[in-house]
Amino acid sequence: MDYKASENIQDLQYFGEFGGVNPSISDSSTYTFLSAKTMFDTFEGNTEGCYLYSRHSSPSNLYLGEALAQLEGTESANVYASGMGAISSVIMQLCNANKHIVCSRTIYGGTYAFLKNFLKKFNISTSFIDITDLEIVEQSITPKTKMIYCEAVSNPLLEVADIQSLSRLAKKHGIPLVVDNTFSPLNINAAKLGAEIVIHSLTKFINGSSDCVAGAVCASTDFCLSLKDVNDGAGMLLGSTLDSLRAASILKNMRTLHVRIKKHSENAHYLAAAFEKDGLKAVYPGLESHPGHETMKNQMNAEYGFGGLMTLDVGSLENANALMELMQKEKLGYLAVSLGFYKTLFSAPGTSTSSEIPLEEQEELGLSQGLIRFSIGLDNDIHKTYLTMRSCMEELEILPKKAVLV
Ligand code: PLP
Repeated sequence: MDYKASENIQDLQYFGEFGGVNPSISDSSTYTFLSAKTMFDTFEGNTEGCYLYSRHSSPSNLYLGEALAQLEGTESANVYASGMGAISSVIMQLCNANKHIVCSRTIYGGTYAFLKNFLKKFNISTSFIDITDLEIVEQSITPKTKMIYCEAVSNPLLEVADIQSLSRLAKKHGIPLVVDNTFSPLNINAAKLGAEIVIHSLTKFINGSSDCVAGAVCASTDFCLSLKDVNDGAGMLLGSTLDSLRAASILKNMRTLHVRIKKHSENAHYLAAAFEKDGLKAVYPGLESHPGHETMKNQMNAEYGFGGLMTLDVGSLENANALMELMQKEKLGYLAVSLGFYKTLFSAPGTSTSSEIPLEEQEELGLSQGLIRFSIGLDNDIHKTYLTMRSCMEELEILPKKAVLV
């Protein structure tokens, strides 16, 4: 698998209204028409290139959408005010009342809560299954099933989905495979592997500066247009539109994504390997001990590595909390949810981003209370980071003190 997304993004070139090197930001919620007839035609969806109202689309959102379509290799992409805005729009667009969804049991807590609790209002049910067991996935599909949904690399357990096999299964049953690729932009090109719809929380790696929330749906032009339809488009009618100023700033940050992803991956791989060697339970798709290592190797774009996320199990919630507080004090990063920032971010998912999942289900998944999820930052000297993290663990007796050679 080697889709040259960053080369395609590199070839994008826009000029601002006055010849600026950045496209001009569309600072308007509404747009004028010279004739009333064109306005009517635009509402009917018959006028290419005319803007109507910024909840529908805006030049700045279209520029960012174009770059994201290049990233995933899809025909089109729409942008949203958050990752959840993108996820809820896609699901509501594809799924009517009384239907069914097959979904990985390890996914972001907000998506889990949306599927499990919110969609009850519409009598939409979800089977949460082990997405790595293709037999179980297929057995879960019923005539009512409207999609298979998973994350390419899952939050928080970093389970790797076999997108090619899942796509074959989805096609066999005539349903779309929807993949949330938030954890692995550039590392994995889910659409090129067969996903029909690819979702991103732009809040994370793609924007990379932890200063806004945003989301994207990368898919066929038909599907992207259907989401914007003024009569029945979930994006248009649920209203989670991204603001143009934010779209412009995300587009600028996206230009360094290829450089950042390589460094995030390099640093995460270094730390995961070092802590595994030290005897800690480290989970990282780049480690041979990871059950999804071979799957990841087969479907990744090798130059971007195995991604910037890793988990360490430090035995108990007390250990996890004490370690995170100490690491923050030692300036190793922030005790904060989210990911993709230049500094390392760490949180205990059991009591934060996955707290929507009941405790018994967390245990069943292997989500232990001592698990810390790390989004590894862009540290220039990762060995120094390792030594400081290690000394925090030694101070808290999570790891024994290393013998000092004299
Ligand atoms: N998908 C994944 C994998 C996530 O981790 C998150 C948030 O943490 C989301 C979607 C939701 O994105 P947002 O917070 O931008 O709505």
